[in-house]
Amino acid sequence: MQKVQHFIEQNKDRFLEELLELLRIPSVSADPAHKGDVQRTAEAMAVHLRKVGVDKVQVYPTAGHPIVYGEKMVDPAKPTILVYGHYDVQPADPIDLWHSGPFEPVIKKTELHPDGAIFARGSCDDKGQVFMHIKAFEAMAVNGELPCNVKFMIEGEEEVGSVNLGAFCREHKHMLACDVILISDTSIIDNQTPSITTGLRGLSYMEVEVTGPNRDLHSGVYGGAVANPANILAKMIASMHDENNHITIPGFYDDVEEVSAAERAEMNKAPYDEKAYKAALDVNDLWGEKGYTTLERTSIRPALDVNGIWGGYSGEGAKTVLPAKAFAKISMRLVPNQKSKKIADLFAAHFEKIAPTYVKVKVTYHHGGEPVVTPRIRRNIWLLTRR
Ligand SMILES: [Zn+2]
Repeated sequence: MQKVQHFIEQNKDRFLEELLELLRIPSVSADPAHKGDVQRTAEAMAVHLRKVGVDKVQVYPTAGHPIVYGEKMVDPAKPTILVYGHYDVQPADPIDLWHSGPFEPVIKKTELHPDGAIFARGSCDDKGQVFMHIKAFEAMAVNGELPCNVKFMIEGEEEVGSVNLGAFCREHKHMLACDVILISDTSIIDNQTPSITTGLRGLSYMEVEVTGPNRDLHSGVYGGAVANPANILAKMIASMHDENNHITIPGFYDDVEEVSAAERAEMNKAPYDEKAYKAALDVNDLWGEKGYTTLERTSIRPALDVNGIWGGYSGEGAKTVLPAKAFAKISMRLVPNQKSKKIADLFAAHFEKIAPTYVKVKVTYHHGGEPVVTPRIRRNIWLLTRR
């Protein structure tokens, strides 16, 4: 271990430079204009894997963005860890809220990071973490201290719903076989409290379109006589939470697993400082489903949120328009045993039902993901028997 630490100490600057290089590539998977950059990042990942001694490294094309895979089998009798990560990033908008270029990484010292932190799109989601695993591999492999087999699977579509990952996994089931999957694409409680995430909420991502009159109207001529789709959409969205901040879509909670009182008590032992939480967000008060703590609201309970809302005029100055259409992107976070498609269907049926007669609505299901909870095994992972 000392040799490994020594190696890291000696190569720290190079590691950092290599990571900054990766962060400079705008691998925005959602934007077709960046398709080439996404491909370039995949290839850069493959180069890194090969350089540190990973075998069978290949950039696998998919129907969307490629998946990078490589492995180091030291001994088939030893356990195998599969490291999952993603090299794609979220779009960087709104650009004007960045203090420095999203793809021009800078290291800054802040109150939260007195030793300095990297500010760039993807630095902590998820290029930074993937890179950390590659460098950990390098440091251990160089010293001949790799205690297990390691596989890397790094995808480029996490930020757009991992649409081609399922098919890839099914197709390469044997290649991907492992005992443990290591994912560093989650959060920790705080910088002083390393944490292991044992569950993740799922997702149903919807887009709605509300149409009123057949064209944009002048509010001076028509205002007050024709339903404004933006007003109607706001009202429909507002109606989706009741006074207890419970989601009002019929059947929405039917499959929600009720977590036992004992487990809830245990999870509420995790460090949580409400005052600091509010201060960090600069809000006077917290909001959420009645009867649940913040830790529970963000883990064992589902949620519904508007991710974007638009329509009419949002440019400089004023325009007295009564828009013909209004839109919103709305996502729901799901918990076991809710199913993404079922929730999407319930949402669509409800949204159509609550639409008043003076508008037409269109609901589109973008993508989803299923909630997952892993068993919490308290024994050493090395004791796991191999299948
Ligand atoms: Zn991520």
